Amino acid sequence: MTITKKDILLILIILIIAISAVSVASAYSGTGFTHDIPFSKYRDVSNSKILNRYNDTECHVEKTGVCTQVVDGDTLYLESGEKVRLVGVNTPERGVEGYIASKNFLQKFCLNKKIGLDVDKAKNKDKYGRTLAVVIVGGKNVNEMLLKEGLAEIMYIPPSEFYPYNWAGPSTHIPDSYKTYTHTQKDTSSSSGSSGKYIANSNSGKFHKSTCTWGQKTAEHNRVYFTNRDAAISQGYIPCKMCNP
Ligand SMILES: [Zn+2]
Repeated sequence: MTITKKDILLILIILIIAISAVSVASAYSGTGFTHDIPFSKYRDVSNSKILNRYNDTECHVEKTGVCTQVVDGDTLYLESGEKVRLVGVNTPERGVEGYIASKNFLQKFCLNKKIGLDVDKAKNKDKYGRTLAVVIVGGKNVNEMLLKEGLAEIMYIPPSEFYPYNWAGPSTHIPDSYKTYTHTQKDTSSSSGSSGKYIANSNSGKFHKSTCTWGQKTAEHNRVYFTNRDAAISQGYIPCKMCNP
């Protein structure tokens, strides 16, 4: 076999692609989010004391599992081997300031414990095959807690069932790239004609999550669909007491 100029060119191209792929991978540093919360901040505070600061979440536990490993502040493994990425939030990457504090916080609530998950219905896996979900501990939304504690920044990637801006606290960091998503944009992006996140009943004056059995029992001719809760409220609909939309 003789090596032609064409072969050499092909090898060169493959090498260039390989080298650039490696350099892209090693240069990845997340969004660059950091915070200066000390890693030991929550060490001597009981879990229940922290949980008590938060309202019960409206998210539903759809599945449970024991967390066997916490990778960082926004990623964990279940004993089934399933890798879970906390949806709507982003914590500092390994080696970056704040990484350990955020990881410690998630470990405190999850490691070797049975946790609840509300999996994102709009997109249940990310491009790495990780399950996108809200983690629920003691009836509280851990994703929301990470944001409110300043341990995570918002990472809103539509389509998503969840809207992390609703979980944010006054000190929550919102990256520039996500500032463009406003309430209005969220509404139009999920709008799709006769379907929506909420079903209102023009007869009863109540509105439901589209997953609520009472909402689903609404007669077709009485149905009004909303993609946005505020829109339903502003039109005078009252939230269903069963599904708490
Ligand atoms: Zn309902």
